[in-house]
This record gives sequence, C-alpha cells and structure tokens, in this order.
Amino acid sequence: MVPIMPIPKPRIGAHKSISTSIDLSIDRAIKSTCECLQIFTRPPRRWEAGKNTLSKSSIVKFIEKSEKANFFDTTIHMPYLPNIATPSEELFNKSVKVLIEEITTSKILKIPYIVTHLGSPLKESESFALNKVVKALDIALESNSNHVLILLENSTAKKQKWGTSIEQMEAIIKKITQPEKIGICFDTAHAYSTGYDIKNPEILHEIFDQIDEISHDLVKVIHINDTKGGLGSGIDHHEHLGCGKIGKECFRELMQHPRFQNISMILETPKEDEKSDQRNLEFLRNYRKLN
Ligand SMILES: [Zn+2]
Ligand SMILES: [Zn+2]
Repeated sequence: MVPIMPIPKPRIGAHKSISTSIDLSIDRAIKSTCECLQIFTRPPRRWEAGKNTLSKSSIVKFIEKSEKANFFDTTIHMPYLPNIATPSEELFNKSVKVLIEEITTSKILKIPYIVTHLGSPLKESESFALNKVVKALDIALESNSNHVLILLENSTAKKQKWGTSIEQMEAIIKKITQPEKIGICFDTAHAYSTGYDIKNPEILHEIFDQIDEISHDLVKVIHINDTKGGLGSGIDHHEHLGCGKIGKECFRELMQHPRFQNISMILETPKEDEKSDQRNLEFLRNYRKLN
C-alpha cells in the first residue's frame, strides 16, 4: 500500500496572474510549487471587469484544476480602485458594487475568501471611516454571501492611520451585523512598516493574542512578505523573504509555531523572474522541514 502523505502545514503559496484565462493561474501556481493561491479576478487598476479571462470554459477548468491540485482555500484580492471608506458617495457606491460582484464571482469559482483593504476616508475622521466601512460590508454581505468570508487586510500607515491597526479591525468586527462572515488577512510587510515590530517573535505573538481576544481563528490568510520599509516608516515596498528589514526570525516563527499551522501563507514578493516565487517558497520550506 502507498502511504498517504500528510499535507504539510502551514500551507504556502503566492499571488498569481489570471492573464489570458483564469485557470492558467493554477498552472502558474503549480509550476512555482505553490500549495495555495491568491488571484485578482479582474484588472486591479481598472473599474471594468476583464474580458475573456472568466469565460464559461475557463471557469469550469479553474474549478477542475483547483480540485485536482487540492487548492481549497484560494483567496480573491479586491482590485485597488474601490475605497469603502471614501467620503464620495459615487465612489462608495461603485466600490460596494465591485465588492458584491466579487462575492458573486467567488461563488461561481468556489473560492472561500475575499481580501479587502479598509480604504481611505481622506480628511475625514476615523469614526467616519468606521461607519462607512461597516455600512459597505453590511450591504455587501446582505447579498448572496453564505459561502465566503471577507478578510480585512491591514495596510501601511502613511499620513492617515485608518486601515492599519488591529484595534480598527476589532471596531469593525464589533459593529458589523454579520461578524461571522468576517476574518482577517495579516500582511507582515504592512504591519512592520506601520510600526508593529514583528522582527521580534514575541511581538508577533502579542499581536495574535490581541486578535484571539476578538475571536478565535479570525486570521485565515497571512500575506508573508519582507519589506524594504523600516519599522514605522510608512513605506510599503515588499521584499524577498529574509532580504528586507523584517529579517528571518519572524518567518521562521510563522512556519514553525503551532498557532500558525492552519493559516494559508501567501507571498506578494517581487517577481523578477519565473523562479522568484519558487525561491521564496523554498526559503519557507527549509524552516517548515524542521517542524
Ligand atoms: Zn492587499
Ligand atoms: Zn498584502
């Protein structure tokens, strides 16, 4: 009898392009030795949905290939233009529409997670932003959303601090009508350049203790990125793992500590060549082997 190999944990993967046809994202992921995957389902810097990439036949192939590759926890990242904290009524409505469309797409593609940033309220206050984001999520989650979790991603603090802290995510989760449909996507590069000193594993654990106090198992995805931006610099410039300011200890802890084992780790590191993701995954596998 052939012994059944256990799936290694935590699962590690990368963001991949859906260019030409969405099912090709799976081929690209497998080629880079990914075990899980994040995609945009539409051009990230345009409002219109992409043409052809989501044809009926490509959707069927995407689902078949996902099942075959055991990619059961794929994540859709929202495009960059929507802003669910905006003071502009027009932009707010457009943004909520895209979020609802992504919920529909995730159902069609059998994808369980959608990652969204918390947007920017420009000169408006944090409480203004909180109310807007809660309103956007409440409207979107009223639609056909029982199959999916919306994951709130921490972004990098620049001038305004909205969308960057665990406290702000907690405030959203406490205020929203259906908190059971919300999770967290923790981006290591954004956290560090905002001022969370996760280079020190003790601080990393303190952050996860704080999240656990909101609710258990909230973090479904970690964007596992190193950064060129210094601690608290506000500079969002991702770097290869072990080559940036975060260093190695944090990533070793994420690979080896039991509390992170059920979280999908997704790379959003630079892609200079075809093997870039593979090299970063190898870096993580070397730590994981020691579990
Ligand atoms: Zn993001
Ligand atoms: Zn990210």
